[in-house]
Amino acid sequence: MDARSRTCDRGAGTSPWIHRWYVAEMPEPRFAICDLDGTLIDSDAALVNAFVALGVTRSEISFGHVIADECLRLGISLGDYVHAYDTEAAKPFPGVDELIGVLDDWAICSNKHVESGTAELTRLAWRPRAAMFADAFNGPKRLAPLLEALHLDPSRVVFVGDTDHDRTCAHEAGVDFALAAWNPRAVERVGDIALKHPSDLIEVLGL
Ligand SMILES: [Mg+2]
Repeated sequence: MDARSRTCDRGAGTSPWIHRWYVAEMPEPRFAICDLDGTLIDSDAALVNAFVALGVTRSEISFGHVIADECLRLGISLGDYVHAYDTEAAKPFPGVDELIGVLDDWAICSNKHVESGTAELTRLAWRPRAAMFADAFNGPKRLAPLLEALHLDPSRVVFVGDTDHDRTCAHEAGVDFALAAWNPRAVERVGDIALKHPSDLIEVLGL
């Protein structure tokens, strides 16, 4: 029997003392940290189009990397890439805007270039408590700097992402990993919390 039903059984709804007991029994909701590209926004086409515009062959492009590393690997300048990237092109996956409307406290952890990432958040009018992009990490993104900056207990955090690297980030930080399985490119592994629809996250967080 859960805390809610115990409270109801005791007819305690009008007692302040029991109300405090009831609130204390209810677990705090968990905190969501989300990847951006391929998780909240369907940015594959925008990412690919910027590379293709700079002469890269489509089949050479892969996803989920630090953008500076991918530019280096593909032999193009980061500045040219940021200039070619259309920050208006990527749309949120269906249901994500509604999810963001429910989350009033959340954060972003992304390998995206800070200029492109900030422009996307502004355009979408999304206001996470914190957003860390590639410039915040000395290499690929990590969750530790965000956990530290926001004083978050890893056991109370869920990281939502779409790639193997995202899963590794979560495991290294002692954080549960939820797969954005609404992205058909995302591959589920044992131990993932697989989210079929963005709204599935609401229950996982206990909101
Ligand atoms: Mg991603």
